[in-house]
Amino acid sequence: MAQGQTAPGIVAGRLSSEDIAANFDDLHPAYAPHEAAVAADRCYFCYDAPCVTACPTDIDIPLFIRQIQTGHPEAAAKTILDQNILGGMCARVCPTETLCEESCVRETAEGKPVEIGRLQRYATDTVMAAGVHPFERAASTGKTVAVVGAGPAGLSCAHRLAMLGHDVVIHEARPKAGGLNEFGIAAYKSTENYAEAEVDWLLKIGGITIENGSALGQGVTLDGLRDAYDAVFLSIGLGGVNALRAEGEDKDGVRDAVDFIADLRQADDLSTLPVGRNVVVIGGGMTAVDAAVQSKLLGAENVTIAYRRGREAMGASRFEQDLAASKGVKLMFNVQPVAVHGNGAATEIELEYTSSAGGELTGTGETTRLAADQVFKAIGQTLEGAPSELELDGRKIAVTGAGRTSVDGVWAGGDCAAGGDDLTVTAVAEGRDAAMDIHKVMMG
Ligand SMILES: Cc1cc2nc3c(=O)[nH]c(=O)nc-3n(C[C@H](O)[C@H](O)[C@H](O)COP(=O)(O)OP(=O)(O)OC[C@H]3O[C@@H](n4cnc5c(N)ncnc54)[C@H](O)[C@@H]3O)c2cc1C
Ligand code: SF4
Repeated sequence: MAQGQTAPGIVAGRLSSEDIAANFDDLHPAYAPHEAAVAADRCYFCYDAPCVTACPTDIDIPLFIRQIQTGHPEAAAKTILDQNILGGMCARVCPTETLCEESCVRETAEGKPVEIGRLQRYATDTVMAAGVHPFERAASTGKTVAVVGAGPAGLSCAHRLAMLGHDVVIHEARPKAGGLNEFGIAAYKSTENYAEAEVDWLLKIGGITIENGSALGQGVTLDGLRDAYDAVFLSIGLGGVNALRAEGEDKDGVRDAVDFIADLRQADDLSTLPVGRNVVVIGGGMTAVDAAVQSKLLGAENVTIAYRRGREAMGASRFEQDLAASKGVKLMFNVQPVAVHGNGAATEIELEYTSSAGGELTGTGETTRLAADQVFKAIGQTLEGAPSELELDGRKIAVTGAGRTSVDGVWAGGDCAAGGDDLTVTAVAEGRDAAMDIHKVMMG
């Protein structure tokens, strides 16, 4: 029996299992073949296509759409995967509305782009469903590479290196591979265990061993890896979180949004996952939207995103903001948390209004309170556990060219490395490019 949305506190089963399952259905359902043909027909197959320039992995988009249009989805998949081995996941999670689809000439002319993301999914799903892995390893080079972290950057790097004939060992701290594809991406973007299936499919290339529970800094050292392997690629992501710096942030019910999402992604039955009646999410990026939307889909009665700046400064795209609003999430702008109130457990959050002048944010002194039995912190992740011998650029690992760090024989890419957006597709591109550079140096 469902508890109901108005049950007080943080409880499981606010909605029935059936309602929760329906709520977490695929955000962009797969195309049927005839729908894919109609969508592909809308492409002008532009010369010097702007959509390709906008794609961080440089997929030849007009070519793969032409291949779908002419009835060859497997060939289309090969075109995509040549550039982006996680093209299936990227088709599901890329903010296409700010990348390829935003620059599509049909978006510019008619406000309705070719649905590149869904077409990409159609092609990659076809080869995944057939269990086909369209790449073969080159003859063994005898070289070995250690990759640290099995997220999108590490997996992409490992696959490219394995394809070039090198042997790769991935050291992954968690019990499961996939990084944020497995533990972070919203559940309605990666349904039916897609992240795990994609990793299994990627490993079909051969030559990649994943050592789960093997963490750099805990028994594994950078020097040890440099001695044992011909090259090292670091793709450890951003494991730390920023502090809220609000009084009472240690009260029960205040939690890091990424941890909540990880629990959600690993839950076998979402109706067993507790969620508050009144949820407040602090932040303005994708993580804030994902935590808020998923709280609502689990049955929280009131969910508010509180962001310290205006709408236009939000990291989450307009599409994601609209998605949140369409699910009943309230967006509050120009407010920052000053205190969490409650006797032991959170019951209210106090927010101060802000104003910004010349980019400088200041509190106005005026505050307001919201009921909040659960508060999620989604104010950004930070680099954690980077070896101290590496130079940093700001708060990330400094790199030059295709991911070369300040230490010889060590490359870095994905979220942990400076430069580039913190997106799955960018991590894949950086892993791939570092692999090509590692190959060049090792074989040089
Ligand atoms: C909640 C959330 C939602 C997101 N949604 C989207 C989205 O919809 N679309 C999108 O494009 N991007 C999204 N992103 C961003 C995207 O997930 C990241 O940019 C991407 O996963 C970065 O890949 P990565 O390989 O660099 O790092 P990660 O995916 O973080 O992988 C790093 C891996 O390294 C491992 N590791 C860490 N430290 C060590 C160590 N010391 N030793 C060994 N292993 C270690 C970790 O366990 C992890 O498996 C989201 C991020 C978050 C947090
Ligand atoms: S910009 Fe749009 S119409 Fe042109 S090739 Fe790309 S997807 Fe096709």
